[in-house]
Amino acid sequence: MASITHPVTSDYRGRLAPSPTGHLHVGHARTFWAAYERARAAGGALVFRMEDLDAQRSRDEFANAAIEDLRWLGIRWQEGPDLGGQYGPYYQSRRRTFYVDVWRRLLRGGYIYPCKCSRKDLTAAVSAPHEGGSFIEMQDDEPLYPGTCRPAANFTTPPTEMLEGINWRFRVPDGEVIRFEDLALGPVQFVAGVDFGDFLVWRRDGVPSYQLACVADDAAMRITEVVRGADLLKSTARQILLNRALGFENPKWYHCPLVVDHNGQRLAKRHDSLSLRALRLQGLTPMNILSAELPGRV
Ligand code: GLU
Repeated sequence: MASITHPVTSDYRGRLAPSPTGHLHVGHARTFWAAYERARAAGGALVFRMEDLDAQRSRDEFANAAIEDLRWLGIRWQEGPDLGGQYGPYYQSRRRTFYVDVWRRLLRGGYIYPCKCSRKDLTAAVSAPHEGGSFIEMQDDEPLYPGTCRPAANFTTPPTEMLEGINWRFRVPDGEVIRFEDLALGPVQFVAGVDFGDFLVWRRDGVPSYQLACVADDAAMRITEVVRGADLLKSTARQILLNRALGFENPKWYHCPLVVDHNGQRLAKRHDSLSLRALRLQGLTPMNILSAELPGRV
């Protein structure tokens, strides 16, 4: 398996964006390997971005392990937390100014509104998160927002710098069909207000949401192609709306099929027996891990 840094000869820019909330497992290995292969085949750069915004769940130990595990697998990148680069910092926890800037632009454009609903209010108000969609499970998806704090359409948000103590939501265009061509899965579409609702862009604890941070960083880091797991398909629809509101160009998308266990459940970080660390300790090679046989081992 080749593991040398490939020369960059094109404008292609891909990325690896792990969240250091646990050890990486076989599912991550396959997705990140696909990202590496596609960047290499395109003669492009691969950017490693540590998605450590969730201070409660992110740990340095997991961040360092992710770098080590992906290197062990044979993946190489041109920019990242360990290497630096032109578009750093490569830890999301150090990129707050980028996110505040994007939040301000959304606010000025009238795309977002403050929301006082607590997580508890929402759990009481919404049905269970959408499960078992057409061909993949989306259990982790943000539940449909019931609209409790949604202002009237012609509402103008007063100028504010209120980034703590209140949630901010993006108002989705109800009924609009969001379509995109996925390079792995073909045409995909979701309906705003039906498949997903007004989504969080900033959390009351002062942290930007994954959706906001992702579009801010993909734009700032000049990412041209996003390779990630198919559990994030609906997030892509949300990110298309954010990119449009912000005047950012959409990257291309390649969503990898999820690796499932013998019960058909997608692998999660709790599947410790399938963490890359555990498998390496058992003597498995990167080649074994990237081959198709593993899920049966759960
Ligand atoms: N940080 C996310 C994860 O580990 C991936 C986000 C993305 O690729 O957009 O699931």
